[in-house]
Amino acid sequence: MEPSTYKICMEGTVQGVGFRPFIYTLAGRYALKGTVLNGTHGVEIVITTTETLLETFVLAIKEELPPLASIDKLTTTQIDTISFDDFQIISTEDEGEVTVRIPPDVSVCSQCEEELFDPTNRRYKYPFITCTQCGVRYSIIYDLPYDRVHTSMKFFKMCEVCKEEYSNPLDRRYHAQPIGCYECGPTLELRDNQGNVLEKPRGVEKVAELLKEGNIVAVKGVGGYHLMCDATNAEAIETLRQRKRRPSKPFAVMVRDIQMAGKFAELSQHEERLLTSKERPIVLLQSKGNHEGLPLQIAPNISRLGLFLPYTPLHLLLLDELQRPLVATSANVTDEPICTNLESLEKLQGVYDYVLAHNRVIVNGCDDSVVMVVGGQEVILRRARGYAPASISLAKPLSEHVLALGANQKSTVAIGFDNQVILSPHIGDLDSIESIEYFRKNIESLERIYSFNPTLIAHDKHPNYESTKYAILRQDQEPNTTPATERVEVQHHYAHILGVMAEKKLRGKVFGVVFDGTGYGDDGNLWGGEFMVCDYTGFERVAHLKYFKLLGGAKAIKEPRRVALSLLFDLYGEEVLDFDKLSHLSGNATIQAFNNVELKTHYLAWQKGLNAPLSSSVGRLFDAVASLLGVIQVMSFEGESGMLLEELYDGSVQEHYDFSMEEGKINILPIVEAMLSETDTTVSTSKFFHTLVEMIVKVYEPYDLPMVLSGGVFQNRVLLGLVLKRFPEAVISNAIPPNDGGVALGQVAYFLDSS
Ligand code: ZN
Ligand code: ZN
Ligand code: FE
Repeated sequence: MEPSTYKICMEGTVQGVGFRPFIYTLAGRYALKGTVLNGTHGVEIVITTTETLLETFVLAIKEELPPLASIDKLTTTQIDTISFDDFQIISTEDEGEVTVRIPPDVSVCSQCEEELFDPTNRRYKYPFITCTQCGVRYSIIYDLPYDRVHTSMKFFKMCEVCKEEYSNPLDRRYHAQPIGCYECGPTLELRDNQGNVLEKPRGVEKVAELLKEGNIVAVKGVGGYHLMCDATNAEAIETLRQRKRRPSKPFAVMVRDIQMAGKFAELSQHEERLLTSKERPIVLLQSKGNHEGLPLQIAPNISRLGLFLPYTPLHLLLLDELQRPLVATSANVTDEPICTNLESLEKLQGVYDYVLAHNRVIVNGCDDSVVMVVGGQEVILRRARGYAPASISLAKPLSEHVLALGANQKSTVAIGFDNQVILSPHIGDLDSIESIEYFRKNIESLERIYSFNPTLIAHDKHPNYESTKYAILRQDQEPNTTPATERVEVQHHYAHILGVMAEKKLRGKVFGVVFDGTGYGDDGNLWGGEFMVCDYTGFERVAHLKYFKLLGGAKAIKEPRRVALSLLFDLYGEEVLDFDKLSHLSGNATIQAFNNVELKTHYLAWQKGLNAPLSSSVGRLFDAVASLLGVIQVMSFEGESGMLLEELYDGSVQEHYDFSMEEGKINILPIVEAMLSETDTTVSTSKFFHTLVEMIVKVYEPYDLPMVLSGGVFQNRVLLGLVLKRFPEAVISNAIPPNDGGVALGQVAYFLDSS
């Protein structure tokens, strides 16, 4: 067969992941002659060969891809014959166009880990060992193209040996942008809590010693600092809780390896795979019995345990030295973003005893990601390091450039162009000046890195969301841009469903169930227990929980007792004030959580509707139930009530409570009433969970549409498990969180046309 010349074009994640050296090596195996280069939309290979060999070659590319690479599209075309003498990697001026994606930060690879612990290796125990296949990416990038000069590695001048590795196409560190060694790369610095530099250690031995002694150390990682302490030391954990003013919210624990993880938690194969994946998220697991050697202070009253494996060489060295688990919680002031430098860390001076810093700048902050497995499905609760800012491809191209600003809690932002959406990592709750600043910074980073100019700004309807305020401000600031930037509101819960539809590339109409905290509804009330039939053109709200009043507005979100009391007023009105005369209310936990004056004040507020917005939120219903059952009255962290109710669930209870529905309004008062006469909290909790499933069954009955689930309440493992068991075909998101972190994607998807 006569050889011809072929051009192979590949799009996807093919840059900064060792793709060209991989092709180079592969071409060598088949003795192929030609070239490989980074083109405008990906990698281009030109080879002169036979058709048979071409096919073999393409198959090998697909089958043996480097671990971080993925190909979305591969095309082969025959071109005019060229004769080559050898196979070459061609460097191009415009390497890495902005359409090429940024790979996320990934964990240290097994080859680097081997070298890290090899005493003969020149990088033996070097805390920043990396290669083309592993290490930091997104967190160190200022700009695209992804090249060393556009990262915070530009401040380090490569030594001759590193330069040699970096320039050799056959070396596994060819074009590894964060390459470095003891000679030339980043170095550690140990400080006390007054900011004095104690030493610039080569290794982590000293820090390990400090942790062993029970100290709290702020350790700089990939996307920010962690506060770390010995996870087997109850006293150290208690100190951390007190200093951080975090009485009960569970702490994540970093374990040396999968064997150590197995000592503390039950692991399915799926969960094991997630723990050891290159993304290395925190995985929420069922803890073993009495935490098996981990003090209960890690997660008081909760049998779930968030574990993760070391993902940087620095963490590996620490854990290896210690041979015991470490509490590793994001270093941040409540409601503020993760600390990424010494300056922002200063606010936590009273919390840590020492700081282990290093001199590689974190350009883009990024929290740890959090994932769980329910009913065989991966549910991502916080999408950040390891995943961000990976893009999500859409079923069809957008005709606009959309900037989506997300919601207000668990904020994320997104940009959408062509057929892709780039989603920022988890930003956090926009409740402080610092977090709003971080939110703006994330928008700026995305726009700068992708040279993106929006033609449309999509945002939530809530007038008081910081994201809404930003949208208005932004439009005001850019009155004369051509084409003019338009601003469009997308209803919160509709955006929740649209996000799932976009991720799953669903077309046509769906039946959406949104069990959520609170979101601004079309009628100005706070929705959150919504059943909606939707497609990309709009939605119809076919059913929802009948409104109840949130006594004290925002305060009711933190105080389950306020929601419960409001429901009691709905049921018994003024009689509640005479509770000691009513047998079913005597000894009621909600009522006992108030004094008489408070009860009267709340009654008046309820009666007159003063600072008592109407809501249909299932999240708030969970709170009310938790209060009525005496589980919790005032929460110390978001989602606490749901977590505690999970603990009470008993699968052997079969029944559910009755509820009524009229014209799409679900009356929950019969549920509350029935619960009051129940004596066993386990039974009432279990029946409550089943009741929510029955609600879905009832409303869904007349519809023959795919069911889509979203909203923060579906982070509840018990509820989601029950719903998926009843509706195995129900669609949930796997790449975006069911909570408000997924709203930004939905806001972009609103601009996909329905056809
Ligand atoms: Zn590596
Ligand atoms: Zn070097
Ligand atoms: Fe929401």
